[in-house]
Amino acid sequence: MSNQRTLSIIKPDGVKKNVVGQIISRFEGAGLKVVAAKMMTLDEGLAGSFYEVHKERPFYADLVNYMTSGPVFVSVLEGVDAVKQNRDLMGATDPKEAAAGTIRADFADSIEANAVHGSDSEENAAKEVSFFFPEL
Ligand code: GDP
Ligand code: MG
Repeated sequence: MSNQRTLSIIKPDGVKKNVVGQIISRFEGAGLKVVAAKMMTLDEGLAGSFYEVHKERPFYADLVNYMTSGPVFVSVLEGVDAVKQNRDLMGATDPKEAAAGTIRADFADSIEANAVHGSDSEENAAKEVSFFFPEL
């Protein structure tokens, strides 16, 4: 158990539904602290390079299109086991498979418009934090 940082994005569907505060409350309720945050609209270049690992997947173009469809809320969460804690709070990628009470079960629309992004490993968390917050 160690103190970690992880990257969170409240995706365009979450921002449109006006649940930014409710989602942040879940992070805070679990003991994660927001240590950096900004609201921004991703352009194709940024969204495309952020999701570069998925470039060969059939949904890549749709995903980039969706992620640029409206403002997102990007933040850095800090706390004990932050990477796993955030993933546990988020729930499975597909909201139909997400456990009851998770963010995606409660707020996601579809496997694509699934309310939140969270880094999936400590290594990717470091990369994703510096992608959006190079000053940290
Ligand atoms: P995550 O780590 O749980 O966010 O899931 P992945 O890393 O596998 O996928 C990244 C993002 O791509 C997901 O959060 C979804 O927004 C989107 N995505 C994943 N699988 C699919 C799919 O089968 N179809 C579509 N349209 N989008 C998907
Ligand atoms: Mg992922």
